[in-house]
Amino acid sequence: MRCYACTKPSFQIICSDCRERLFAPQIHTRKIGTLDVISFYPYAAIASLLHTKHKPEGYRIYKRLAGMTMKPFIKEFSESLESDVYIVGVDEYVGSGYSHTALLAHAMRTQKTKVMHGKLLAKNRVSYSGKDLQFRLNHPRDFRYTGKSGIDVILVDDTVTTGITLQEAQNVLLQHGVNVLFALTLADAKE
Ligand SMILES: [Zn+2]
Repeated sequence: MRCYACTKPSFQIICSDCRERLFAPQIHTRKIGTLDVISFYPYAAIASLLHTKHKPEGYRIYKRLAGMTMKPFIKEFSESLESDVYIVGVDEYVGSGYSHTALLAHAMRTQKTKVMHGKLLAKNRVSYSGKDLQFRLNHPRDFRYTGKSGIDVILVDDTVTTGITLQEAQNVLLQHGVNVLFALTLADAKE
């Protein structure tokens, strides 16, 4: 096959050259209310990769991105953990053959981090693309949480834009006695 980014022959969807040069992660933390949102790229740096989400190659590209970012991050983080932490993908809804948030969450499984799939689902999936903050506030995701209570959780999503969705998720979890340690996203789309 060929590297999706540079089109050179490669055994992987993003070749090792591109992983090191074009897509080297730059860890960044943004505070949204009381929530720390840790991301690995500015949105523009990986926009072409994120746009494959609903295409056939999206599955392999998202898997590779998770392997370059969230997987090593959580492996290192989990080494200092004394008790279990749960990974919760934001709205693991299967849109185009797979759930990209479930895929990202799955990549974060370690001995100390347990993945709880499909426990935080949105009732409202109206598109926020190109919509302003007011629209997003007027059309909340309306999450339903069906996981355990009294636990520590790390939230996972592909992109943070205004942070409204992650804050809403955090609030719903809080109402269920769940402590959100922080959120991890691939990209930060803050303008
Ligand atoms: Zn390449």
